Amino acid sequence: MRLIILGPPGAGKGTQASRIAEHYEIPAISTGDIFRANIKNETELGKQVQEILASGGYVSDEVTNAIVADRLQQEDASRGFLLDGYPRTTAQVTALDEMLAESGQEVDKVLELVVDDEVVVDRLLKRAEVEGRVDDTEEVIRERMALYHRETQPLSSAYDQRGLLVRVDGVGEVDEVARRIVDALGS
Ligand code: ADP
Repeated sequence: MRLIILGPPGAGKGTQASRIAEHYEIPAISTGDIFRANIKNETELGKQVQEILASGGYVSDEVTNAIVADRLQQEDASRGFLLDGYPRTTAQVTALDEMLAESGQEVDKVLELVVDDEVVVDRLLKRAEVEGRVDDTEEVIRERMALYHRETQPLSSAYDQRGLLVRVDGVGEVDEVARRIVDALGS
């Protein structure tokens, strides 16, 4: 199973991604987590992307694509994977298609978690109190939402045209949303 999970910041992608990954026994690969781990460990990449993440911007396609290409070559991704936070731009969609085509693979399904803007902004502000993520301030959240609508939202219709899109209501208890997802994707 090769899956992508799409949705605005705060839609609950990370939470649901780990559940889906467990259910289908595939690794959940989050570009945001990869960047944050690099920032924490003060690697070269971390230093390069630190300010971008803090301001809510997108890391360049070149850097992001290279990281994903590398990650997908690891052994555990050979039988499938769930991508969370990637692709985020149409250029990344093309890059992913090419990466997969090299080994005769393609994306099976794209799951879109649908949640209203007001709900996600609210959730992110609450998360800020608990996790203290540098990009969860109101100003940066607004920037991330705007960028999402401009750059990433169009990906959902692109995948829909390819017949891959599965839309799931992301509002409700975590367990309930997880159940909807598994129902929608099929076992
Ligand atoms: P969220 O979905 O809440 O915005 P993520 O953890 O997915 O959080 O991403 C955090 C940040 O990491 C993004 O705001 C962006 O700066 C960077 N990032 C993650 N994935 C990508 C990507 N595919 N392309 C460019 N930047 C990315």
